[in-house]
Amino acid sequence: MSEDVTDFVALRRRLHAAPELAYEEFRTSALVGELLECWGYEVATGIGGTGVVGTLRNGAGGRTIGLRADMDALPITEATGVPYASTIPGVMHACGHDGHTSILLAAARELAQTRAFSGTLRVIFQPAEENGGGARKMIADGLFERFPVDAVFGLHNWPGVPAGEFRFIEGPAMASVDMIVITIQGKGGHGARPQQTVDPIVVASSLVLALQTIVSRNVDPLDAAVVTVGSIHGGTVPNIIPDSVELQITVRAFSQTIRELVRERIVVLAESQARSFGASAKVQTPRGYPVLINHAEETRFARDVARRHFGETTVDTLRPISASEDFAFMLEKRPGAYLFVGNGPSADLHSPRYDFNDDILPIAARYWTALVVDYLSANEEARAA
Ligand code: ZN
Repeated sequence: MSEDVTDFVALRRRLHAAPELAYEEFRTSALVGELLECWGYEVATGIGGTGVVGTLRNGAGGRTIGLRADMDALPITEATGVPYASTIPGVMHACGHDGHTSILLAAARELAQTRAFSGTLRVIFQPAEENGGGARKMIADGLFERFPVDAVFGLHNWPGVPAGEFRFIEGPAMASVDMIVITIQGKGGHGARPQQTVDPIVVASSLVLALQTIVSRNVDPLDAAVVTVGSIHGGTVPNIIPDSVELQITVRAFSQTIRELVRERIVVLAESQARSFGASAKVQTPRGYPVLINHAEETRFARDVARRHFGETTVDTLRPISASEDFAFMLEKRPGAYLFVGNGPSADLHSPRYDFNDDILPIAARYWTALVVDYLSANEEARAA
């Protein structure tokens, strides 16, 4: 693979220059499908929107492994100044999904050429990881019924971790996310005659402070959660009290119990605080992504593969991450693990100055290849024993 890894760097930069938003990954998924077909994969397209699954069978091995990459970009205006920067205004691969797609394609070609495995390989390219729940949509579209796997693995590049090193987290690894919207309904009027109004700005202010008590007073100090009021909108000018104020809140948690506790407390505080001021609150509580829980056996296996092929010094543990990831839906359905590959000292994910580090592309592709070969042959050994 090493002599033509430049092909995949070129491909990565081509994807970077033409990023596509969630569920609009038409050119990206068409390209993925064409390449996989060229290399001898059975290809299924249009799964959960623009999702693609490639299947490659080899030998008599009875087990099946799935590898997943995400394809979508973000609504960000790029500020990297690189020659292959986004040509699409306001859209950017600011999370390295161009890299993840290229890594999986590089591994897919290597495995098709060497066929050094015995069993079934499925490569899963999903749409809309960023907020769109592309994994959930592919699952709802029959992903694991139509393309069964014994285990599924995914990876993310990780800024701040030395380039090409591996990081693992067993158990709860990434937080659940819910976006909660509260509309406080008061009664607007003249800013000079507050006694004739029910001022929703005062209610909202009180509520923002009350919400801080959920993590400090209701959540066990040895558990973790986040309640962030990221948006608050109401009013237009100093001398008019508005009718209503809208708050948008992001909630993160590392267990289902804490997630439910925080969600319930937000509703209770919003409704009762509003009532205490003579206002009312309407609370919308749609569910985002669940907690991403890495399965113990598969995480240890994935970690051992990194150790064996890249050396002990390249492998370490990360603390759980308070960001969220929709691969969590796949890990709810099948055993597996989500791992992190160091992107070096780059700008952070979702920054307009972030760029995927092309040096890690061949390393991560070699890792995927090793994981597939070892996972499927480990099974052969177990069966022979
Ligand atoms: Zn990402």
